[in-house]
Amino acid sequence: MSSTSAKRDSRRILVTHALPYANGPLHLGHMVGYIQADIWVRFQRMCGNDVSFVAGEDAHGTPIMLAAEKAGVTPEQFIAGIKASHEADFRDFGVHHDYYHSTHSAENKALVEDIYRKLKSKNYIVEREVEQAFDPAKQMFLPDRYVKGECPKCGTKDQYGDNCENCGATYSARELKNPYSTLSGAAPEWKASAHFFFALPKLQAEVDSWIDRADINNGVKAKLREWTKAEGGLRDWDISRDAPYFGFEIPDQPGKYFYVWLDAPIGYFASLKAYCESEAGKARGLDFDKFIGDENYAEMWHFIGKDIVNFHGLFWPAMLKGSGLREPTGLAVNGYLTVDGAKMSKSRGTFIKARTYLDAGLNPEYLRYYFAAKLGSGVDDIDLNLEDFVARVNSDIVGKYVNIASRCAKLIHDRFDGYLASTVDLLDSDFVVAQPQAYRIVQQTYEARNFAGVIRHVMDILGLCNEALHRKEPWTKIKEAGQAELDSDVHKILTSALNVFRLATIYLSPILPQLGRRVESFLDLNRQFTWTDAAAPLTGHRINHYIPLATRIDSAHIKVMVENSKEDLAPSVQKNAASAVLKPLADMNDAESHLKTPAQPKSSLPTPLASAAASTISIDDFNKIELRIAKIENAESVEGADKLLRLTLDVGELGKRQVFAGIKSAYAPDALIGRLTVVVANLAPRKMRFGMSEGMVMAASEPDGKPFLLSPDSGATPGMRVK
Ligand SMILES: [Zn+2]
Repeated sequence: MSSTSAKRDSRRILVTHALPYANGPLHLGHMVGYIQADIWVRFQRMCGNDVSFVAGEDAHGTPIMLAAEKAGVTPEQFIAGIKASHEADFRDFGVHHDYYHSTHSAENKALVEDIYRKLKSKNYIVEREVEQAFDPAKQMFLPDRYVKGECPKCGTKDQYGDNCENCGATYSARELKNPYSTLSGAAPEWKASAHFFFALPKLQAEVDSWIDRADINNGVKAKLREWTKAEGGLRDWDISRDAPYFGFEIPDQPGKYFYVWLDAPIGYFASLKAYCESEAGKARGLDFDKFIGDENYAEMWHFIGKDIVNFHGLFWPAMLKGSGLREPTGLAVNGYLTVDGAKMSKSRGTFIKARTYLDAGLNPEYLRYYFAAKLGSGVDDIDLNLEDFVARVNSDIVGKYVNIASRCAKLIHDRFDGYLASTVDLLDSDFVVAQPQAYRIVQQTYEARNFAGVIRHVMDILGLCNEALHRKEPWTKIKEAGQAELDSDVHKILTSALNVFRLATIYLSPILPQLGRRVESFLDLNRQFTWTDAAAPLTGHRINHYIPLATRIDSAHIKVMVENSKEDLAPSVQKNAASAVLKPLADMNDAESHLKTPAQPKSSLPTPLASAAASTISIDDFNKIELRIAKIENAESVEGADKLLRLTLDVGELGKRQVFAGIKSAYAPDALIGRLTVVVANLAPRKMRFGMSEGMVMAASEPDGKPFLLSPDSGATPGMRVK
């Protein structure tokens, strides 16, 4: 959206989020920061600001080199596969970048070399010998996290080379007793090698000054100052690694590579450069050199997790200043995600991948909503409480919000031919909170990234609106009133309520973009909401018939997600050694190789009911199983499955169900259509490769024999309970 006047009256903003590390799938913890950035970008665009939102893969480093080796592919092939999976997750969660690139790109190589040469020319690069652990079997230097041994103080085995988990002693890797390489098991040798350092202390004054003026949460600022003011202040930062390494070789230094954290933030610029040079970027007239060289040209915001504050708050501004480039405007720092009050756990099924959430049939916008409801401007950790998630989405989005539209739109169509009244009572005391000028306060709340505050405000006005509707009862009045009264009273109430609903939609659009698009179409607007739409009500306008806007979450889907997130603990024993080094790096607490087959649901094939009852059960136990008569409305083969038929069942009052049954060997699909059988109706739905299976049909069989479907006697009808 460009200004029509010569002078700019909107802001130009560059937004980035932390680059996902290209060694595994995204999980819900990653999504917090990405969704936070996307919401803020959408909000800024609704305000008419000119935002460029770029990101990409963080594609270098030892863990990726080793993971690719283990997978038997080149690092380039490896990172390409991961990139595709990350991009699919971003797309499906509505995180929409203008450009999504990779740190392993020509643009990044050129920028990294250029920045390095500038730093070198100003004597900010120094060279020193470093003694480092060397794995004689793998013939490579070992990052600290790959060396383990016995604690020099208490003798506890398998401790990392920095501190002991048992006694808390701190020491250097060199002091470990009986040290070994976690890659080969060999005892490491200690070898000297030339390393290159970025002389950070020479830029201490510049870093201090940047911290003072940058827009950063006060708690984070205090932490940064703690680091810069620590005894001895800042230290030289080791920016080189020895071959073999997957990264960019340092110019004129064969066998020496840039450390992944040197080239990762420069990757923001690489992605921006590729965007500026793309057709879309050119069409917007973006000037890359000004972006990175001139603070007055654009704001620059980095959305990051709190674990990488040191890289973005110390090294990055110093590198920029030292090479004559502009520094960031601000950092938006988010905390960690916990699930059900605890760290994400594979055995509990709360280590949830982004894809597992989607595959369980859950709406990605609901997760955006829940995260937003918990994201204030601070850096607190946020908790995804699964029970609360279901309750909150169902109560807020379905109960309080879309419910207003569904109730009012019907009456507007029944009695007023779909037209809204020509005036509203927004300033009537019942709706006073929805007064037009409130949108500026919501705007400031968004600007400060206090999304929780926005949602509280929205729920407040929706709550008051629902109360007012309840009190004024337009649905009762509409039956009794004459036409004149209708026009003056009921019509205005309905129009006012629909305007509160519309206002809530404008406010929620950055958080629920797809839902916003559907509301625009329901209100027949033919364009997307802008922020100033909140300033004036919609009146005298004909709206479309109500279309379903949101459905409740069925907690069965949560069960499926948790079940599918549980993993056998056995394979984790052989998990690739890369997992050992993931901790210090950003955004990669998921240590799994992406090439591992995604966790498949435990078999959900309908198996014959277990016959050999080992012990008795109570009638209460039996009653937990809800058996119902089902009519097979349709049966068809499933492409790619030898044994399965896809059945569509009519279960009477329970509605239609899709069930996959392993009975293809015994039944032709056509022969099944129309017949009755028995279904376990309260089995948790299972996501299968071919779709959801929502129950289990019952059949008898010998072990490994042909299945025989159960049938009721004539007279039974679909939906009847079997007892
Ligand atoms: Zn110890």
